[in-house]
Order: sequence, then structure tokens, then C-alpha cells
Amino acid sequence: MDEKRPPRPPMQKEITCKDLGSGIYNFATPPVGFQQYLILGQEKALLIDSGMGIGSLKKEIEKVTKLPIVLINTHGHPDHCGGNAEFAPALMCPAEFDVYEKMATLEYRQKDSGPKPGGPGGPGGHPGEGPKGGRPMEEHGKRPELQPTGPAPVPVEDGAQIDLGGRVVEVLYTPGHTHGSICIFDKLTGSLFVGDNVMGERVSVYEWNSGTIEDLHRSLLRMKALEPSKLYSGHRPNVLEPEILEREIRCAAQLLDGAVGVPQKVRGGAVALAYEAEGVCICYDEKKIR
Ligand SMILES: [Zn+2]
Repeated sequence: MDEKRPPRPPMQKEITCKDLGSGIYNFATPPVGFQQYLILGQEKALLIDSGMGIGSLKKEIEKVTKLPIVLINTHGHPDHCGGNAEFAPALMCPAEFDVYEKMATLEYRQKDSGPKPGGPGGPGGHPGEGPKGGRPMEEHGKRPELQPTGPAPVPVEDGAQIDLGGRVVEVLYTPGHTHGSICIFDKLTGSLFVGDNVMGERVSVYEWNSGTIEDLHRSLLRMKALEPSKLYSGHRPNVLEPEILEREIRCAAQLLDGAVGVPQKVRGGAVALAYEAEGVCICYDEKKIR
């Protein structure tokens, strides 16, 4: 059994904001720096994901812009949709609605964020990080205030063009990490917001709501065809050079060709297979190759 895990990201209690230039802002939210992005047009701003829902992301956004906010979720995991309640119903791929309904509720996030008996426990924040991979959101057993359950999302179509006023972004269905994962492409800068399909540390494709390695491979080829200038992930390290796509594509292709990973303990004591090649790690379920 391989007990090696990605290094733990540093804890943070406050929401931080970084100007990435060209009207793109990056917010990092508690407890472990989940990554959200704001793209400004002339008439509207697009918010990509809302974090776990600790603190008010809306208040921080209002320091940057007074434009009306359109929220889109890259997928339905709680660390991407937990703050949805502060905004109008989010755009989301319909294949993700069940994930959102089960995992982004206040009750689920409370359970995921509470201290666990006998040790670290608590949230990995990202559900894939597992009970032992996570930590309580507060070090002394006190639960943080969480945003309430958000409203039901509204469907967004593959290829949808969202006009923010003088700036159009495109939505792409890119299943892999989950069935309904999407990417958002900012045509103005060539920036591609990849959710959890491309991660600097480890891509997870082993949960009940995950797609297959074949899905991921196809989605990565689609992302590469856009020739993005930069990738922005939902977790740290969040700014990635597009060449990582090539490596992840090869890693996924090797799995499709029969390569096998090393068993690794994941969430809830389950075991997934971790396959590492060229500095990319894909953690997957052997039943979810094709
Ligand atoms: Zn996720």
C-alpha cells in the first residue's frame, strides 16, 4: 500500500484576493486556499466557483467590482459550490446536479468540516482528499460559520458563449474528474479555467461521481486543442503552464493502454490506484478506465 500523499496545503482563515491582470481576479478561500476566479466584462462579471462557503466571498468581490455577478460552477463538489447561496443560481452542467444536491448542502459541508474523533479528520476540503488527508477547519475543534445551502443550479450547455460585455467566454463540457465537469475559456486572454481536471498535485477520478479515464483523456485533448495561454486550477498550485496538458494526456493514455497504478488509501478508507508519470499523478478506480 502506497501511503504517499500530496503535501498538505497551508491553512488559511481569511479570503484573499489577487489581481492576475487583464480583468481577472483570483480569490483563495478557507480553509485550505480553494481557488475561485472572477472575470470582468464591461457589463457583467463571471465568478468561477464559490469555495466551501466559509466567510463572505461576495463582500470580497464587491471590493473589486460592482458589476452584476454571473456564477458558474466547474463541478458540484462542496469546495467549489459551498458559497453559492450568496449569489443568483449558478450555471452548471446538468450531469452534475445530483453531485451538487448531495454534496454541497450545508449539512454535508458541516459534517465534512467538523472535527473527527481520534485525530485530524475533518475536511480535505476537497472530498477526494479523504478523512485522514483532511484537517479540521479550525484547529481547536470549533466549527466555522458556513454559508447556507445554495439555490438549485440552472443548466449551461456545452459550447455556451457567455457575453460579459466586450468579452465572451466559452463553456466546454470536460468530463473526467466528475461526469459533469466543465472548463471555461476566456477568449480574450486564452486563459482556461480547468476546475479539478488538471491539478498540479493529483487528479482524482475514483469517486462515485467521477467519469472514466477515457472521458478525462478526451477532455484533455479538447482543452489542448484550444491552445490555452495559461491554466487555472481549483486547487493549489493553481496557475499552471499549458504543457502540463501534454503530460497528463500521456499519463491518461498509458492507463488506457494497460498501465496500472499503485494501491493508495483514499476517502473513507477506500482504496484507489495512483498512477504517476512525468510528474503527473492520476488517482483512479480500476473499474473506471472506459
Ligand atoms: Zn472536485
